[in-house]
Amino acid sequence: LLQLIAKSQLTSLSGAAQKNYFNILDKIVRKVMEDQYNPRLIKDLLQDLSSTLCILIRGVGKSVLVGNINIWICRLETILLWQQQLKNLQMNKQVNNGLTLSDLPLHMLNNILYKFSDGWDIITLGQVTPTLYMLSEDRQLWKKLCQYHFAEKQFCRHLIPSEEGHIDWKLMYFALQKYYPIKEQYGDTLHFCRHCSILFWKDTGHPCTASDPNTCLMPVSPQHFIDLFKF
Ligand SMILES: [Zn+2]
Repeated sequence: LLQLIAKSQLTSLSGAAQKNYFNILDKIVRKVMEDQYNPRLIKDLLQDLSSTLCILIRGVGKSVLVGNINIWICRLETILLWQQQLKNLQMNKQVNNGLTLSDLPLHMLNNILYKFSDGWDIITLGQVTPTLYMLSEDRQLWKKLCQYHFAEKQFCRHLIPSEEGHIDWKLMYFALQKYYPIKEQYGDTLHFCRHCSILFWKDTGHPCTASDPNTCLMPVSPQHFIDLFKF
């Protein structure tokens, strides 16, 4: 949702909402600097946001930026500072005398890789040990990933053969990603109940009054959520 706002909805937010948006980003950057979880996601988000801001600031006068232009320049500088901080982020070595990921048997490591839905996660995990690298280069793994995200018709249009004459599924995955949106997957998704007309998190549920609650549910993607505010 934050990424979609960065890409296209920034100017439709009210002044207060924009302020909140930047406050949330500030909290996320602090949290990532602290616990070092998922820096890639926030890096991507800041990249999108800084490109949008650059375009908006350049087009000042023509576009509708709420507030003083200096505030926006100041915000852009803050984003650049955050990006710098994240770039300099050093991962702490985990000191742990117990079992580690590499102690798991090969088939279990393989199972973990097959659970990933994001190609970059597979590549990152493959950089941890030579064994994981070997597993992360598996053609079948990348083939499965392509089949999960894209329809057969889509990959038939962009076949990339490798030197040995096979299809290079890994390259295909990254090429297809440029042409088609990948399947969205979230830990928890917002749902809308048509019977009660309320939004709720799937994990928490809601006290539904419908006789068959499951037939009234509809998952709400981030884009769909933004569309709810368009009249
Ligand atoms: Zn309900």
